[in-house]
Amino acid sequence: MNNTYYGQLIFEHSKSGRTGYSLPHNAWKEHDIHSLPHHLIREKSAKLPETDELTVVRHYTNMSNNNFGVDTGFYPLGSCTMKYNPKINEEIAGMPAFTSLHPAQWDHAQGALEIYYNVQQILSEIAGLSKFTLNPYAGAHGELTGLMIIRAYHQKRGDAKRRKIIIPDSAHGTNPASAAVCGLDIIEVKSTADGTVDVEDLKPLLGDDIAGMMMTNPNTLGIFERRIPEIAKLIHECGGLMYYDGANLNPMLGVCRPGDMGFDIMHINLHKTFSTPHGGGGPGSGPVGVRKGLEEFLPNPQVLKDEKGHITLKTAPEALGAVSSFLGNFNIIIRAYCYLLSMGKEYIHMAGKLSVLNANYVKENLKSHYLLPIAGLCKHEFVFDGLRPEYGGNHHTPNHITTLDIAKRLLDYGFHAPTIYFPLLFHEAMMIEPTESESKETLDNFIEVMKKIAEEAKDTPDILKTAPHNTPIGRPDDVLAVKAAKFTY
Ligand SMILES: *Cc1c(COP(=O)(O)O)cnc(C)c1O
Repeated sequence: MNNTYYGQLIFEHSKSGRTGYSLPHNAWKEHDIHSLPHHLIREKSAKLPETDELTVVRHYTNMSNNNFGVDTGFYPLGSCTMKYNPKINEEIAGMPAFTSLHPAQWDHAQGALEIYYNVQQILSEIAGLSKFTLNPYAGAHGELTGLMIIRAYHQKRGDAKRRKIIIPDSAHGTNPASAAVCGLDIIEVKSTADGTVDVEDLKPLLGDDIAGMMMTNPNTLGIFERRIPEIAKLIHECGGLMYYDGANLNPMLGVCRPGDMGFDIMHINLHKTFSTPHGGGGPGSGPVGVRKGLEEFLPNPQVLKDEKGHITLKTAPEALGAVSSFLGNFNIIIRAYCYLLSMGKEYIHMAGKLSVLNANYVKENLKSHYLLPIAGLCKHEFVFDGLRPEYGGNHHTPNHITTLDIAKRLLDYGFHAPTIYFPLLFHEAMMIEPTESESKETLDNFIEVMKKIAEEAKDTPDILKTAPHNTPIGRPDDVLAVKAAKFTY
Protein backbone atom coordinates (compact mmCIF):
# COMPACT_ATOMS: atom_id res chain seq x y z
CA MET A 1 0.00 0.00 0.00
CA ASN A 2 1.39 3.35 -1.02
CA ASN A 3 0.38 5.27 2.04
CA THR A 4 2.67 7.28 4.25
CA TYR A 5 0.35 6.66 7.15
CA TYR A 6 0.60 2.92 6.94
CA GLY A 7 2.56 0.97 9.50
CA GLN A 8 3.58 3.97 11.56
CA LEU A 9 2.83 4.63 15.16
CA ILE A 10 1.18 7.93 16.02
CA PHE A 11 4.41 8.83 17.87
CA GLU A 12 6.33 8.66 14.61
CA HIS A 13 4.22 11.50 13.22
CA SER A 14 5.17 13.63 16.20
CA LYS A 15 6.97 16.95 15.56
CA SER A 16 8.23 18.82 18.56
CA GLY A 17 6.04 21.84 19.34
CA ARG A 18 3.23 20.92 16.95
CA THR A 19 -0.23 21.06 18.47
CA GLY A 20 -3.63 19.81 17.46
CA TYR A 21 -5.43 22.82 18.90
CA SER A 22 -4.84 26.27 20.24
CA LEU A 23 -7.03 27.93 22.82
CA PRO A 24 -7.07 31.57 23.87
CA HIS A 25 -5.20 32.38 27.00
CA ASN A 26 -7.76 31.98 29.71
CA ALA A 27 -8.31 35.26 31.45
CA TRP A 28 -10.92 34.11 33.93
CA LYS A 29 -9.44 33.60 37.30
CA GLU A 30 -11.91 30.85 38.20
CA HIS A 31 -10.52 28.72 35.41
CA ASP A 32 -6.89 29.38 36.04
CA ILE A 33 -5.06 26.08 36.12
CA HIS A 34 -2.78 27.49 38.81
CA SER A 35 -5.72 27.67 41.15
CA LEU A 36 -5.72 23.85 41.26
CA PRO A 37 -4.24 22.42 44.44
CA HIS A 38 -0.53 22.11 43.93
CA HIS A 39 -0.35 18.36 44.53
CA LEU A 40 -2.74 17.75 41.61
CA ILE A 41 -0.59 19.55 39.05
CA ARG A 42 1.73 17.49 36.89
CA GLU A 43 5.42 18.18 37.45
CA LYS A 44 6.51 17.20 33.98
CA SER A 45 4.49 17.20 30.77
CA ALA A 46 3.05 13.84 29.76
CA LYS A 47 4.94 12.15 26.93
CA LEU A 48 2.33 12.49 24.22
CA PRO A 49 2.67 12.66 20.45
CA GLU A 50 2.72 16.23 19.14
CA THR A 51 0.68 16.28 15.96
CA ASP A 52 -1.91 18.38 14.22
CA GLU A 53 -5.53 17.23 14.23
CA LEU A 54 -5.63 16.20 10.57
CA THR A 55 -2.68 13.86 11.05
CA VAL A 56 -4.47 12.22 13.96
CA VAL A 57 -7.66 11.83 11.91
CA ARG A 58 -5.79 10.33 8.95
CA HIS A 59 -3.69 8.07 11.11
CA TYR A 60 -6.68 6.44 12.81
CA THR A 61 -8.95 6.47 9.75
CA ASN A 62 -6.32 4.67 7.71
CA MET A 63 -5.76 2.23 10.49
CA SER A 64 -9.50 1.46 10.67
CA ASN A 65 -9.57 0.97 6.89
CA ASN A 66 -6.94 -1.72 7.22
CA ASN A 67 -9.16 -3.62 9.55
CA PHE A 68 -11.21 -6.57 8.37
CA GLY A 69 -14.53 -7.30 10.03
CA VAL A 70 -17.86 -9.02 9.53
CA ASP A 71 -19.10 -5.66 8.23
CA THR A 72 -16.47 -5.64 5.46
CA GLY A 73 -16.42 -9.21 4.22
CA PHE A 74 -16.92 -12.96 4.65
CA TYR A 75 -15.31 -14.15 7.87
CA PRO A 76 -15.44 -17.97 8.06
CA LEU A 77 -13.31 -18.20 11.21
CA GLY A 78 -14.20 -21.62 12.59
CA SER A 79 -15.20 -21.90 16.25
CA CYS A 80 -15.71 -18.13 16.47
CA THR A 81 -19.20 -17.77 14.96
CA MET A 82 -18.52 -14.49 13.23
CA LYS A 83 -22.17 -13.93 12.42
CA TYR A 84 -23.62 -10.56 11.52
CA ASN A 85 -24.22 -8.26 14.49
CA PRO A 86 -27.50 -6.47 13.71
CA LYS A 87 -27.15 -2.70 13.99
CA ILE A 88 -30.36 -2.32 15.99
CA ASN A 89 -28.59 -4.12 18.85
CA GLU A 90 -25.80 -1.56 18.76
CA GLU A 91 -28.20 1.33 18.67
CA ILE A 92 -30.15 0.14 21.69
CA ALA A 93 -27.06 -0.82 23.70
CA GLY A 94 -25.74 2.68 22.97
CA MET A 95 -28.79 4.48 24.38
CA PRO A 96 -27.78 6.97 27.09
CA ALA A 97 -30.26 5.33 29.47
CA PHE A 98 -27.91 2.34 29.45
CA THR A 99 -24.51 3.88 28.84
CA SER A 100 -25.01 6.49 31.58
CA LEU A 101 -25.93 3.95 34.23
CA HIS A 102 -23.38 3.69 36.95
CA PRO A 103 -22.88 0.14 38.26
CA ALA A 104 -23.49 1.38 41.81
CA GLN A 105 -27.02 2.41 40.74
CA TRP A 106 -28.06 -1.21 40.34
CA ASP A 107 -30.44 -1.09 43.28
CA HIS A 108 -32.44 1.67 41.61
CA ALA A 109 -32.36 0.45 38.03
CA GLN A 110 -35.31 -1.95 37.80
CA GLY A 111 -35.43 -1.71 34.02
CA ALA A 112 -31.82 -2.73 33.60
CA LEU A 113 -32.17 -5.49 36.16
CA GLU A 114 -35.23 -6.75 34.36
CA ILE A 115 -33.23 -7.10 31.14
CA TYR A 116 -30.62 -9.04 33.06
CA TYR A 117 -33.26 -11.26 34.67
CA ASN A 118 -35.10 -11.85 31.40
CA VAL A 119 -31.91 -12.91 29.61
CA GLN A 120 -31.23 -15.36 32.46
CA GLN A 121 -34.72 -16.80 31.99
CA ILE A 122 -34.55 -17.04 28.19
CA LEU A 123 -31.14 -18.72 28.29
CA SER A 124 -32.46 -21.20 30.86
CA GLU A 125 -35.29 -22.06 28.49
CA ILE A 126 -32.97 -22.39 25.49
CA ALA A 127 -30.54 -24.57 27.46
CA GLY A 128 -33.11 -26.67 29.34
CA LEU A 129 -31.45 -25.75 32.64
CA SER A 130 -32.80 -24.23 35.83
CA LYS A 131 -30.91 -20.99 36.34
CA PHE A 132 -28.21 -18.82 34.78
CA THR A 133 -25.73 -16.21 35.92
CA LEU A 134 -24.57 -13.65 33.37
CA ASN A 135 -21.66 -12.44 35.49
CA PRO A 136 -18.67 -14.14 33.78
CA TYR A 137 -16.83 -12.05 31.21
CA ALA A 138 -16.02 -14.67 28.57
CA GLY A 139 -16.29 -18.31 27.58
CA ALA A 140 -13.13 -19.32 29.41
CA HIS A 141 -14.29 -17.34 32.44
CA GLY A 142 -17.60 -19.21 32.30
CA GLU A 143 -15.70 -22.50 32.21
CA LEU A 144 -13.74 -21.52 35.30
CA THR A 145 -16.95 -20.47 37.05
CA GLY A 146 -18.65 -23.75 36.10
CA LEU A 147 -15.70 -25.81 37.30
CA MET A 148 -15.66 -23.90 40.58
CA ILE A 149 -19.33 -24.84 40.97
CA ILE A 150 -18.42 -28.50 40.40
CA ARG A 151 -15.72 -28.24 43.04
CA ALA A 152 -18.03 -26.44 45.50
CA TYR A 153 -20.70 -29.11 44.96
CA HIS A 154 -18.32 -31.96 45.83
CA GLN A 155 -16.84 -30.06 48.75
CA LYS A 156 -20.24 -29.37 50.24
CA ARG A 157 -20.99 -33.10 50.11
CA GLY A 158 -17.71 -33.83 51.88
CA ASP A 159 -16.34 -35.49 48.76
CA ALA A 160 -13.28 -33.31 48.27
CA LYS A 161 -11.13 -36.14 46.90
CA ARG A 162 -12.79 -35.69 43.52
CA ARG A 163 -10.09 -33.70 41.76
CA LYS A 164 -9.99 -35.23 38.29
CA ILE A 165 -11.75 -33.76 35.31
CA ILE A 166 -12.07 -35.67 32.05
CA ILE A 167 -11.57 -33.66 28.87
CA PRO A 168 -11.61 -35.03 25.29
CA ASP A 169 -8.45 -34.65 23.17
CA SER A 170 -10.44 -32.57 20.67
CA ALA A 171 -11.39 -29.91 23.28
CA HIS A 172 -10.81 -26.21 22.87
CA GLY A 173 -7.59 -25.21 24.65
CA THR A 174 -9.51 -23.15 27.19
CA ASN A 175 -11.01 -26.36 28.72
CA PRO A 176 -7.78 -27.80 30.13
CA ALA A 177 -6.55 -24.27 30.88
CA SER A 178 -9.64 -23.45 32.98
CA ALA A 179 -9.43 -26.81 34.75
CA ALA A 180 -5.80 -26.18 35.60
CA VAL A 181 -6.59 -22.70 36.94
CA CYS A 182 -9.33 -24.30 39.04
CA GLY A 183 -6.76 -26.67 40.52
CA LEU A 184 -8.20 -29.84 38.96
CA ASP A 185 -6.18 -32.68 37.45
CA ILE A 186 -6.83 -33.14 33.76
CA ILE A 187 -7.47 -36.60 32.33
CA GLU A 188 -7.61 -36.80 28.57
CA VAL A 189 -10.05 -39.07 26.77
CA LYS A 190 -9.37 -39.96 23.14
CA SER A 191 -11.55 -39.51 20.08
CA THR A 192 -12.53 -42.29 17.72
CA ALA A 193 -11.89 -42.14 13.96
CA ASP A 194 -15.27 -40.45 13.47
CA GLY A 195 -14.12 -37.57 15.68
CA THR A 196 -16.35 -38.22 18.69
CA VAL A 197 -15.50 -39.25 22.25
CA ASP A 198 -14.25 -42.83 22.51
CA VAL A 199 -16.51 -44.39 25.14
CA GLU A 200 -14.29 -47.46 25.43
CA ASP A 201 -11.33 -45.21 26.24
CA LEU A 202 -13.48 -43.37 28.78
CA LYS A 203 -14.66 -46.36 30.85
CA PRO A 204 -11.33 -47.29 32.50
CA LEU A 205 -10.83 -43.66 33.60
CA LEU A 206 -13.89 -43.62 35.82
CA GLY A 207 -13.76 -43.86 39.59
CA ASP A 208 -14.57 -42.14 42.87
CA ASP A 209 -11.95 -39.46 42.24
CA ILE A 210 -13.73 -38.05 39.17
CA ALA A 211 -15.15 -34.54 39.66
CA GLY A 212 -16.77 -34.48 36.25
CA MET A 213 -16.35 -34.33 32.52
CA MET A 214 -16.24 -31.41 30.12
CA MET A 215 -17.74 -31.95 26.70
CA THR A 216 -18.16 -29.65 23.74
CA ASN A 217 -21.13 -30.24 21.51
CA PRO A 218 -20.98 -29.97 18.59
CA ASN A 219 -17.34 -30.69 19.28
CA THR A 220 -14.47 -28.68 17.86
CA LEU A 221 -14.66 -30.73 14.66
CA GLY A 222 -18.25 -29.56 14.16
CA ILE A 223 -19.58 -33.06 14.86
CA PHE A 224 -22.56 -33.84 17.06
CA GLU A 225 -21.55 -36.12 19.94
CA ARG A 226 -24.10 -38.90 19.49
CA ARG A 227 -23.22 -40.89 22.59
CA ILE A 228 -23.86 -38.17 25.17
CA PRO A 229 -26.72 -40.00 27.02
CA GLU A 230 -24.48 -43.03 27.50
CA ILE A 231 -21.52 -40.88 28.57
CA ALA A 232 -23.66 -38.81 30.96
CA LYS A 233 -24.95 -42.01 32.55
CA LEU A 234 -21.40 -43.32 33.09
CA ILE A 235 -20.21 -40.04 34.62
CA HIS A 236 -23.26 -39.68 36.88
CA GLU A 237 -23.00 -43.29 38.01
CA CYS A 238 -19.48 -42.67 39.21
CA GLY A 239 -20.58 -39.50 41.05
CA GLY A 240 -19.28 -36.85 38.65
CA LEU A 241 -21.03 -33.91 37.01
CA MET A 242 -21.37 -33.21 33.28
CA TYR A 243 -20.12 -29.86 31.99
CA TYR A 244 -21.20 -28.60 28.56
CA ASP A 245 -18.94 -26.20 26.69
CA GLY A 246 -21.68 -24.31 24.86
CA ALA A 247 -19.47 -21.67 23.26
CA ASN A 248 -20.68 -23.05 19.94
CA LEU A 249 -24.35 -23.43 20.73
CA ASN A 250 -25.36 -21.83 17.44
CA PRO A 251 -26.44 -24.98 15.56
CA MET A 252 -28.41 -26.22 18.58
CA LEU A 253 -30.50 -23.08 19.03
CA GLY A 254 -34.14 -23.99 19.39
CA VAL A 255 -33.42 -27.53 18.18
CA CYS A 256 -32.07 -29.39 21.20
CA ARG A 257 -31.10 -28.57 24.76
CA PRO A 258 -28.04 -29.53 26.83
CA GLY A 259 -30.23 -29.93 29.94
CA ASP A 260 -32.28 -32.62 28.17
CA MET A 261 -29.09 -34.46 27.20
CA GLY A 262 -28.03 -34.95 30.81
CA PHE A 263 -25.71 -32.01 31.39
CA ASP A 264 -25.57 -30.35 34.81
CA ILE A 265 -23.67 -27.16 34.05
CA MET A 266 -22.83 -25.22 30.94
CA HIS A 267 -21.57 -21.92 29.62
CA ILE A 268 -22.73 -20.01 26.60
CA ASN A 269 -20.81 -17.38 24.66
CA LEU A 270 -23.07 -14.38 24.07
CA HIS A 271 -20.28 -13.03 21.87
CA LYS A 272 -20.68 -15.91 19.43
CA THR A 273 -24.12 -17.47 19.35
CA PHE A 274 -26.06 -14.39 20.42
CA SER A 275 -24.58 -12.03 17.88
CA THR A 276 -22.75 -9.65 20.14
CA PRO A 277 -19.62 -8.39 18.40
CA HIS A 278 -16.24 -9.81 19.29
CA GLY A 279 -12.68 -10.00 18.13
CA GLY A 280 -9.65 -7.97 19.00
CA GLY A 281 -10.07 -8.67 22.69
CA GLY A 282 -13.25 -6.64 23.11
CA PRO A 283 -15.75 -7.25 25.88
CA GLY A 284 -17.43 -10.65 26.00
CA SER A 285 -19.92 -12.50 28.12
CA GLY A 286 -19.93 -16.14 29.17
CA PRO A 287 -23.17 -16.90 31.08
CA VAL A 288 -23.21 -20.10 33.15
CA GLY A 289 -26.31 -22.22 33.66
CA VAL A 290 -27.00 -25.05 36.10
CA ARG A 291 -29.61 -27.70 36.57
CA LYS A 292 -31.97 -27.81 39.54
CA GLY A 293 -30.12 -28.47 42.77
CA LEU A 294 -27.02 -26.49 41.83
CA GLU A 295 -28.53 -22.97 41.79
CA GLU A 296 -27.23 -22.18 45.27
CA PHE A 297 -23.65 -22.33 44.01
CA LEU A 298 -24.05 -19.73 41.25
CA PRO A 299 -21.77 -16.77 41.93
CA ASN A 300 -22.85 -13.69 43.84
CA PRO A 301 -24.60 -11.44 43.34
CA GLN A 302 -27.55 -13.49 42.10
CA VAL A 303 -30.41 -11.75 40.32
CA LEU A 304 -33.85 -12.90 41.45
CA LYS A 305 -37.47 -11.82 41.16
CA ASP A 306 -39.52 -11.50 44.36
CA GLU A 307 -43.25 -12.22 44.78
CA LYS A 308 -44.12 -8.62 43.96
CA GLY A 309 -42.29 -8.84 40.65
CA HIS A 310 -39.35 -6.72 41.81
CA ILE A 311 -35.92 -7.77 40.66
CA THR A 312 -33.49 -8.00 43.55
CA LEU A 313 -29.85 -8.81 44.06
CA LYS A 314 -29.10 -11.57 46.52
CA THR A 315 -25.89 -12.64 48.15
CA ALA A 316 -26.35 -16.36 48.74
CA PRO A 317 -24.31 -18.01 51.52
CA GLU A 318 -23.36 -21.21 49.62
CA ALA A 319 -22.53 -19.31 46.43
CA LEU A 320 -19.15 -18.78 44.93
CA GLY A 321 -17.91 -15.28 45.68
CA ALA A 322 -18.15 -12.65 42.97
CA VAL A 323 -16.47 -13.70 39.73
CA SER A 324 -16.74 -10.25 38.17
CA SER A 325 -17.23 -6.68 39.20
CA PHE A 326 -20.92 -5.95 39.65
CA LEU A 327 -22.92 -7.98 37.11
CA GLY A 328 -20.45 -8.52 34.28
CA ASN A 329 -20.50 -6.84 30.89
CA PHE A 330 -24.01 -5.44 30.95
CA ASN A 331 -23.90 -3.80 27.51
CA ILE A 332 -23.17 -7.15 25.90
CA ILE A 333 -26.20 -8.56 27.68
CA ILE A 334 -28.42 -5.79 26.22
CA ARG A 335 -27.24 -6.71 22.72
CA ALA A 336 -28.03 -10.37 23.32
CA TYR A 337 -31.47 -9.41 24.65
CA CYS A 338 -32.20 -7.41 21.47
CA TYR A 339 -31.09 -10.37 19.39
CA LEU A 340 -33.27 -12.79 21.33
CA LEU A 341 -36.32 -10.54 21.15
CA SER A 342 -35.91 -9.80 17.46
CA MET A 343 -35.51 -13.50 16.61
CA GLY A 344 -38.32 -14.53 18.92
CA LYS A 345 -39.11 -17.99 20.15
CA GLU A 346 -40.55 -19.07 16.80
CA TYR A 347 -37.53 -18.10 14.67
CA ILE A 348 -34.51 -18.78 16.86
CA HIS A 349 -34.25 -22.33 15.50
CA MET A 350 -33.73 -20.89 12.01
CA ALA A 351 -30.33 -19.53 13.07
CA GLY A 352 -29.26 -23.02 14.11
CA LYS A 353 -30.65 -24.79 11.07
CA LEU A 354 -29.32 -22.32 8.52
CA SER A 355 -25.86 -22.38 10.08
CA VAL A 356 -25.86 -26.16 9.62
CA LEU A 357 -27.15 -25.92 6.05
CA ASN A 358 -24.53 -23.34 5.09
CA ALA A 359 -21.66 -25.34 6.56
CA ASN A 360 -22.72 -28.53 4.82
CA TYR A 361 -23.22 -26.69 1.53
CA VAL A 362 -19.67 -25.35 1.57
CA LYS A 363 -18.20 -28.66 2.75
CA GLU A 364 -19.92 -30.75 0.08
CA ASN A 365 -18.90 -28.34 -2.66
CA LEU A 366 -15.25 -28.25 -1.66
CA LYS A 367 -14.49 -31.84 -0.68
CA SER A 368 -13.50 -32.57 -4.29
CA HIS A 369 -10.51 -30.24 -3.82
CA TYR A 370 -9.80 -30.32 -0.08
CA LEU A 371 -9.17 -33.28 2.14
CA LEU A 372 -12.16 -34.01 4.38
CA PRO A 373 -10.87 -36.30 7.16
CA ILE A 374 -14.29 -36.81 8.73
CA ALA A 375 -17.06 -37.25 6.21
CA GLY A 376 -20.77 -37.09 6.85
CA LEU A 377 -23.11 -34.45 8.18
CA CYS A 378 -21.48 -31.66 10.14
CA LYS A 379 -23.13 -29.04 12.30
CA HIS A 380 -22.20 -25.34 12.03
CA GLU A 381 -18.59 -25.93 10.96
CA PHE A 382 -16.20 -28.52 9.57
CA VAL A 383 -12.50 -29.20 9.24
CA PHE A 384 -10.40 -29.84 6.13
CA ASP A 385 -6.92 -31.30 6.42
CA GLY A 386 -5.38 -29.11 3.69
CA LEU A 387 -5.63 -29.72 -0.05
CA ARG A 388 -6.22 -33.12 -1.55
CA PRO A 389 -2.91 -34.74 -2.63
CA GLU A 390 -3.69 -34.29 -6.33
CA TYR A 391 -3.70 -30.52 -5.74
CA GLY A 392 -0.35 -30.55 -3.98
CA GLY A 393 -1.58 -30.91 -0.42
CA ASN A 394 0.38 -33.99 0.59
CA HIS A 395 2.22 -32.95 3.72
CA HIS A 396 4.67 -35.83 3.35
CA THR A 397 6.25 -34.17 0.33
CA PRO A 398 8.72 -31.32 0.82
CA ASN A 399 7.50 -27.89 -0.21
CA HIS A 400 3.88 -29.00 -0.31
CA ILE A 401 1.15 -26.38 -0.26
CA THR A 402 0.28 -25.74 3.35
CA THR A 403 -2.85 -24.49 5.02
CA LEU A 404 -0.99 -21.27 5.78
CA ASP A 405 -0.37 -20.76 2.03
CA ILE A 406 -4.09 -21.21 1.33
CA ALA A 407 -5.10 -18.89 4.17
CA LYS A 408 -2.72 -16.20 2.90
CA ARG A 409 -3.95 -16.53 -0.66
CA LEU A 410 -7.57 -16.15 0.49
CA LEU A 411 -6.68 -12.67 1.75
CA ASP A 412 -5.77 -11.67 -1.81
CA TYR A 413 -9.33 -12.52 -2.81
CA GLY A 414 -10.83 -10.38 -0.07
CA PHE A 415 -11.85 -13.10 2.39
CA HIS A 416 -10.87 -13.52 6.00
CA ALA A 417 -8.97 -16.78 6.49
CA PRO A 418 -10.62 -19.70 8.27
CA THR A 419 -9.23 -20.87 11.60
CA ILE A 420 -5.99 -22.67 10.79
CA TYR A 421 -3.96 -25.35 12.56
CA PHE A 422 -6.82 -25.93 15.01
CA PRO A 423 -8.04 -28.38 16.17
CA LEU A 424 -4.71 -30.07 16.71
CA LEU A 425 -5.93 -33.47 15.53
CA PHE A 426 -4.90 -32.85 11.90
CA HIS A 427 -1.63 -31.72 10.41
CA GLU A 428 -3.08 -29.11 8.06
CA ALA A 429 -6.33 -28.31 9.87
CA MET A 430 -8.50 -25.60 8.37
CA MET A 431 -11.74 -24.96 10.17
CA ILE A 432 -14.54 -23.28 8.24
CA GLU A 433 -17.69 -21.80 9.81
CA PRO A 434 -19.80 -19.80 7.38
CA THR A 435 -22.61 -18.95 9.90
CA GLU A 436 -26.26 -18.49 9.00
CA SER A 437 -25.87 -14.83 8.07
CA GLU A 438 -24.31 -15.41 4.67
CA SER A 439 -26.23 -15.47 1.40
CA LYS A 440 -25.92 -18.29 -1.13
CA GLU A 441 -24.12 -15.84 -3.47
CA THR A 442 -21.39 -15.19 -0.88
CA LEU A 443 -20.98 -18.90 -0.23
CA ASP A 444 -20.81 -19.65 -3.98
CA ASN A 445 -18.22 -16.95 -4.40
CA PHE A 446 -16.14 -18.40 -1.57
CA ILE A 447 -16.43 -21.92 -3.02
CA GLU A 448 -15.33 -20.66 -6.42
CA VAL A 449 -12.30 -18.89 -4.94
CA MET A 450 -11.32 -21.92 -2.85
CA LYS A 451 -11.43 -24.09 -5.98
CA LYS A 452 -9.41 -21.53 -7.91
CA ILE A 453 -6.79 -21.58 -5.15
CA ALA A 454 -6.64 -25.38 -5.42
CA GLU A 455 -6.04 -25.07 -9.18
CA GLU A 456 -3.34 -22.47 -8.56
CA ALA A 457 -1.72 -24.83 -6.07
CA LYS A 458 -1.44 -27.40 -8.83
CA ASP A 459 -0.45 -25.11 -11.73
CA THR A 460 1.30 -22.06 -10.27
CA PRO A 461 2.25 -22.96 -6.67
CA ASP A 462 4.62 -19.99 -6.36
CA ILE A 463 1.63 -17.64 -6.28
CA LEU A 464 0.53 -19.37 -3.09
CA LYS A 465 3.95 -19.63 -1.55
CA THR A 466 4.47 -15.87 -1.89
CA ALA A 467 0.89 -14.83 -1.01
CA PRO A 468 -0.58 -12.49 0.01
CA HIS A 469 0.17 -10.04 -2.77
CA ASN A 470 -2.58 -7.44 -2.28
CA THR A 471 -2.48 -6.74 1.44
CA PRO A 472 -0.52 -4.03 3.26
CA ILE A 473 1.70 -6.62 4.91
CA GLY A 474 2.58 -10.13 3.84
CA ARG A 475 3.81 -12.74 6.22
CA PRO A 476 4.89 -11.17 9.49
CA ASP A 477 6.74 -13.23 12.02
CA ASP A 478 3.69 -14.45 13.98
CA VAL A 479 5.46 -14.52 17.32
CA LEU A 480 7.19 -11.17 16.93
CA ALA A 481 4.03 -9.53 15.60
CA VAL A 482 2.21 -10.39 18.80
CA LYS A 483 5.00 -9.36 21.11
CA ALA A 484 6.36 -6.19 19.53
CA ALA A 485 4.06 -3.27 18.82
CA LYS A 486 6.28 -2.17 15.97
CA PHE A 487 8.10 -4.61 13.74
CA THR A 488 9.74 -4.61 10.36
CA TYR A 489 7.50 -5.44 7.42
C1 LIG B 1 -14.52 -19.64 21.85
C2 LIG B 1 -14.54 -20.88 22.60
C3 LIG B 1 -14.21 -20.90 23.97
C4 LIG B 1 -13.66 -19.72 24.73
O1 LIG B 1 -14.44 -18.57 24.71
P1 LIG B 1 -13.75 -17.15 25.06
O2 LIG B 1 -14.88 -16.21 25.16
O3 LIG B 1 -12.83 -16.84 23.93
O4 LIG B 1 -13.01 -17.31 26.34
C5 LIG B 1 -14.33 -22.11 24.65
N1 LIG B 1 -14.71 -23.23 24.03
C6 LIG B 1 -15.03 -23.24 22.71
C7 LIG B 1 -15.47 -24.53 22.07
C8 LIG B 1 -14.95 -22.08 21.95
O5 LIG B 1 -15.24 -22.10 20.66
